[in-house]
Amino acid sequence: MQFKDLQLNKPILKAIAAKGYETPTPVQEKTIPLVLEKKDIIASAQTGTGKTAAFALPILQLLFDKQDAGKRAKKIRALVVSPTRELALQIEESFKSYGKFSNLRTTVIYGGTSIEPQKDILKKGVDILVATPGRLLDLHKQDCIHLNLIEVLVLDEADLMLDMGFIDDVKKIERLCPKAKQTLLFSATMPPKIAELANSILKNPETVDT
Ligand code: AMP
Repeated sequence: MQFKDLQLNKPILKAIAAKGYETPTPVQEKTIPLVLEKKDIIASAQTGTGKTAAFALPILQLLFDKQDAGKRAKKIRALVVSPTRELALQIEESFKSYGKFSNLRTTVIYGGTSIEPQKDILKKGVDILVATPGRLLDLHKQDCIHLNLIEVLVLDEADLMLDMGFIDDVKKIERLCPKAKQTLLFSATMPPKIAELANSILKNPETVDT
């Protein structure tokens, strides 16, 4: 299979070619068409399998296809929740490189660093936000983040978020987003608590195993 068989648009195919990727990985082959069909997904995928592109590419395409200039300019449309700063930075970098031929803006926020510069960036407006849970809730409490127009929510490395004690924060974040949204949950393992979380927040999810 080729990337062009996955119904991806030109700006995204161009970015993939620029990265030097030749063929989609198995998790990408399975996940990309489901995300483009706006399905909720529960995917068991390890880091290193290409799972970031598996959600980033179709999310960029969905947002790109449905751009509503002006109206949504300051509202976040896709939110990726990640357990650690390192992972969050990698995800931000991926969205930026795969989206470099689109005009969608991605930014990242995480704890353990000064909050003011993050507020300034958020004020300028952002389409895709990558965030660690604690800092996200902090900035939300301070009214710097509005989640009411979120179209796609990604919970990445959900088992790690559970291990790190973020599960209640994750639930809180999900409840701050609109009910009518697409949710993608990625986890390397599926402990009962993650299955429970998936059950409570995903709507008719498709399962992706790799
Ligand atoms: P991830 O599992 O998302 O952390 O990705 C692991 C690595 O694989 C990253 O360095 C990506 O740039 C790379 N990668 C993702 N998809 C592909 C692909 N289809 N072909 C080659 N490399 C890829």
